[in-house]
Amino acid sequence: ADVAVVMLTHVNYKTGYMYDMAALTALSHECGALSIWDLAHSAGAVPVDLHQAGADYAIGCTYKYLNGGPGSQAFVWVNPALVDVVRQPLSGWFGHTRQFAMESTYAPSAGIARYLCGTQPITSLAMVECGLEIFAQTDMVRLRTKSLALTDLFIALVESRCAAHGLELITPREHTRRGSHVSFEHPEGYAVIQALIARDVIGDYREPRIMRFGFTPLYTSFTEVWDAVEILGEILDNATWDQAQFKVRNSVT
Ligand SMILES: *Cc1c(COP(=O)(O)O)cnc(C)c1O
Repeated sequence: ADVAVVMLTHVNYKTGYMYDMAALTALSHECGALSIWDLAHSAGAVPVDLHQAGADYAIGCTYKYLNGGPGSQAFVWVNPALVDVVRQPLSGWFGHTRQFAMESTYAPSAGIARYLCGTQPITSLAMVECGLEIFAQTDMVRLRTKSLALTDLFIALVESRCAAHGLELITPREHTRRGSHVSFEHPEGYAVIQALIARDVIGDYREPRIMRFGFTPLYTSFTEVWDAVEILGEILDNATWDQAQFKVRNSVT
């Protein structure tokens, strides 16, 4: 009863666990709280229907599954019922209703435009546009089908090819609970990921012990999944990871 806002990451960045957005939004509303959904690991990865879920707000980034590249824009979504009611505290000239009137007082634009603040980073937006143009050639239902096939294949191959090495799956097997990445725990996860990167298989490491593999369904192929697991198997079989060079902690993991 004393919670004002429930802020959740729709697909958990470590485990790949996906929340039931509609159910949790309804529960938040029952308790008198607003919902904010972080879609960083959802946008472009899984179908999202904010209207159907009755969500209040959503935020996300464009540099993961939307392929905008590091430094590309964040985004915000506001339920149309709230969009004109909420005061956006960052009152920059791009949110002004008469941007070029150069008035000395601030009057927010109607609608989502009031959530803008400063001049838009056009070169970064151009990169996002390239990615979105490719999305426009397909749809999230087809991408979701491929994403689940990719992650199912990865889980099955790792569990058979690397069975001897004690990897522990922490991503849900149920399709309705899984995003588009798969995480396994291994005590030497950091070094294993470094050894994979040295072989051009780019995963990442998250504390504690988590090896995370993202499958962007737009362009990751089934052959790449197969090859990645084969290389992971070789690294574990030969303990290639057990070298000083792979144990140096970099600032980006
Ligand atoms: C990547 C990510 C973001 C985006 O953060 P930036 O500050 O835009 O880099 C937000 N939330 C989660 C859970 C993320 O994984």
